[in-house]
Amino acid sequence: MALTPLQIRELLDDNRAHECDGFGKNHVCVRIASIAELPSRFGQFQVVAFWNNRDGKEHAAFVHGEVTHAENVPVRMHSECLTGDAIGSLRCDCRDQLEAALRTIGAMDNGILLYLRQEGRGIGFTNKIRAYGLQDHGYDTVEANIALGFRDDERDYSVAAHMIASLNVKSIRLMTNNPKKIQGLAEMGIRITDRIPLVIPPNEYNRFYLQTKASKSGHLLDSFGKERLLEQLDRPFVEGMTSEQAAKVQEN
Ligand SMILES: [Zn+2]
Ligand SMILES: [Zn+2]
Repeated sequence: MALTPLQIRELLDDNRAHECDGFGKNHVCVRIASIAELPSRFGQFQVVAFWNNRDGKEHAAFVHGEVTHAENVPVRMHSECLTGDAIGSLRCDCRDQLEAALRTIGAMDNGILLYLRQEGRGIGFTNKIRAYGLQDHGYDTVEANIALGFRDDERDYSVAAHMIASLNVKSIRLMTNNPKKIQGLAEMGIRITDRIPLVIPPNEYNRFYLQTKASKSGHLLDSFGKERLLEQLDRPFVEGMTSEQAAKVQEN
């Protein structure tokens, strides 16, 4: 059972007047601004739009099944990537990760995908494209990587944690391969009972995850020796990866 019209009205009423001291050192506060049905190719979802007091960005939650007052709710955090998510860019595997998460959640009893509007690890769209441009012009990826590598993790976890709290979720199972994410959310007061690994099928575009011998400072070489910037902080497991490769990919 998804959120009922009555539950939606109650959540919206509660949030209209919501104020708190904020989560994290930046005192991030969010409010649920609007909720609607969202049938999708990955199953039946409801979409929740959030207001926040810090960055003017409209973060979103995609909710499947009953999550309010529920325990052990599967949750995936995804950072926006316009080029990957919407356009299907092959410079990154954000779309593969997003689809794998939505497909997994859609097939479960319930779950939430938090869609965080922090393009390019929080540096913004224009800076991300600058980093791509530097690579196109043969610049050492170190410079491009510095541009793309910066990310305000603390902000990320504050927003996500408050979004989970706003939905009155009691405890979650975080869909991640990155222990830092579990720690980051737990520090914000979210109860995490388990971890669900995110596994994506191998294809010619994510095969670079399997080429881990050249892993260094946040980027990996694909099989043609071309470097890729990794835009999601949380990297997937690719089916068929050895545990050694999987551990290597999570570094940095
Ligand atoms: Zn608040
Ligand atoms: Zn991307």
